[in-house]
Amino acid sequence: SVTPRVALVTGTSSGIGEAVVRHFCRLGHQVLAVDFNPAGREVAEEAGASFFQADLTDGDACRAAVAEAIKRFGRVDILVNNAGIQHVAPVEEFPETKWRQIIDLMLTAPFLLSQAAWPSMRESGWGRIINIASVHAQVASPGKSAYISAKHGMIGLTKTAALEGGSQGITANAICPAYVKTPLVDNQIADQAKLHGMQEQEVIEQIMLKNAAVKRLIEPDEVAELVAYLASDSAGAVTGASWNIDLGWTAQ
Ligand code: NAD
Repeated sequence: SVTPRVALVTGTSSGIGEAVVRHFCRLGHQVLAVDFNPAGREVAEEAGASFFQADLTDGDACRAAVAEAIKRFGRVDILVNNAGIQHVAPVEEFPETKWRQIIDLMLTAPFLLSQAAWPSMRESGWGRIINIASVHAQVASPGKSAYISAKHGMIGLTKTAALEGGSQGITANAICPAYVKTPLVDNQIADQAKLHGMQEQEVIEQIMLKNAAVKRLIEPDEVAELVAYLASDSAGAVTGASWNIDLGWTAQ
């Protein structure tokens, strides 16, 4: 049986975040789902979670999200930093505003949310920080400088939080997936198909799965199961880790 916990999950209106919210609710956790898209409310409430609308590129909004979880549920035990976006352009042309937006959302927000949730976890003597990074936290691909820089930075944040949290019952880990079947990837498939004049299936096989040993996309639920493990009591000895779920991409 799973000890019921209070979880704050970001980026929950679709994809991996939505799957994590559903899975946590099934396990009996109390969940605050945080997203800037108001559509996240229906997704959250259908799963049995609470919803808080926040644009996490704003530091005050990050702090408000944690304050809301504490107001509604009394504490934060589990923080899942999942909200993310992509923008593809060569370094030479990459817009500064996009760079800053991606770093704010995908590196600064996880830092500020960890900082804001820390006192509650320390007081309980138990905490789990789970950062949804990417295979692009380990290796690069052209055109994704901001995303890849944010994800590599997230690994540094994870390791530092793990060292500081070790004596306080707080673990911090990162998950590094390859391509997961979500709207973020559907959009990339459509864009690449247009760009290269290819069928969508060809884009999946020839571009997305080029480096994969297992030739299929990952299901959001497969990532959610790993999040649930890292959030569990059983994972207390796992910290500072970057856990690949990448179809064998980085094995080569
Ligand atoms: P998604 O687009 O389905 O979900 C991203 C969520 O983040 C959405 O709900 C969106 O509304 C929310 N969001 C975006 N900007 C926000 C903001 N400013 N404030 C608050 N919320 C915001 O994408 P996904 O594929 O489920 O991605 C989730 C995470 O997993 C991201 O960090 C992504 O980088 C990572 N990831 C995805 C894949 C993949 O192949 N899909 C692979 C590796 C890592």
